[in-house]
Amino acid sequence: MNLKELYQEIILDHGKNPRNLKKTENFNKDAKGHNPLCGDKVHIFLKLNDNQKVDEVSFEGSGCAISMASASIMTDLIKGKEVNVVKELINDFLEMIKEKNSLKSNNLSEDEKTKLMSLSGVKQYPMRVKCATLSWHTLTSAINNKNEEINIEKFD
Ligand code: ZN
Repeated sequence: MNLKELYQEIILDHGKNPRNLKKTENFNKDAKGHNPLCGDKVHIFLKLNDNQKVDEVSFEGSGCAISMASASIMTDLIKGKEVNVVKELINDFLEMIKEKNSLKSNNLSEDEKTKLMSLSGVKQYPMRVKCATLSWHTLTSAINNKNEEINIEKFD
């Protein structure tokens, strides 16, 4: 299996069977986002503990395979990480998906990097980039306690 096939396999897997697709009990942060261009919707639930670590994270939503896979992979990767590390990861992911083709993060295992890089293929389809970034911008909104729903059209 080449890298492209591996990436497709990961996206298909997470798109069809999204991880953490539920409402977390006792969340203390949440945010909603939508992508009118494609019809994707996501609601992120986050539980940070006293040490500012992600105790629980989950999402509800509906949309295309890319948006579901991205939310699934994201929630999978940030569980158990400190919120500062999560913020770095968000920036790293957004840079990778928009301009670069690599991740700089030292906070990810090779396996985790492969999962994130599986989304890099959307660069060839500019319309789909927002499908992939929706849950990440919504996560930022949840961390920052913003109350308004994210409209991904307003982001670069
Ligand atoms: Zn979409």
